[in-house]
Amino acid sequence: MPRRASIGAKSAGQILKMRAAGLVVGRTLQALREAARPGVTTAELDQLARERIAEAGAVSSFLGYGAGFGLPPFPAVTCISVNSEIVHGIPGDRVLVDGDLVSVDFGVSLDAWHGDSAITFVVGAGSAPAEALSEATRQAMWAGIAAARVGGRIGDIGHAVETSIRSNPARYGIVSEYTGHGIGTQMHESPDVPNLGRRGRGELLVKGTCIAIEPMVTLGSAANATLDDEWTVVTRDHSLAAHWEHTIALTGTGVWVLTAEDGGEAELTARGVKFGPLGE
Ligand code: MG
Ligand code: MG
Repeated sequence: MPRRASIGAKSAGQILKMRAAGLVVGRTLQALREAARPGVTTAELDQLARERIAEAGAVSSFLGYGAGFGLPPFPAVTCISVNSEIVHGIPGDRVLVDGDLVSVDFGVSLDAWHGDSAITFVVGAGSAPAEALSEATRQAMWAGIAAARVGGRIGDIGHAVETSIRSNPARYGIVSEYTGHGIGTQMHESPDVPNLGRRGRGELLVKGTCIAIEPMVTLGSAANATLDDEWTVVTRDHSLAAHWEHTIALTGTGVWVLTAEDGGEAELTARGVKFGPLGE
């Protein structure tokens, strides 16, 4: 029998603050996606995100991250991971070209409450396998979100993510070393939210649970390595990788996807899951 403690629950008022942060995150990611054309550098995208943070009166969750636990402080407000980079890519002079598969991860706090989300897209005209990998990862994220419910367990989410990826005829890799996480006044809170799992295992999901669900999926092997910059995680076989993430809240009336513009209503409804916004 599972015996692990349940997750620290957030109040309705706290979740509403996280929704405000989540909207800044989601809208900024859409702006970055629109700006990511051939010829644009990843540093230029990061600068655009910095401007959005300033306009919103928000604080980057990423800038300086890691200094407290022995890593070089992260030097940007976005993680931009291109092609065989899985996560934690550092924006810089890299010029995006037609066909690049780009993952952008972005987080801010607003009034001390965090939102965290990631999207993957192809710059210009991409290859069919790259598009399919991103779409399979996005679908796996939504499968995980749809599996989260009050009274369920963290393992239900990983099971759903894993099942979604394994059901694809392509033999994708699922990165296991990095996971989703609880989120609140810290970007990373307990518990971890693995992308593989067994139903009915792990922490109990309660009303007020706020977590980030973020599958990382590869076109080849999921074996990975970290570059000398101590941040950028790449596939060892140089295969393409995708990363999608949303921050969600279990409100008691359903699921509220805090970093999605529509709160997740369209995708949840399509999956027969109750959409549970608060005060909107
Ligand atoms: Mg993130
Ligand atoms: Mg995250």
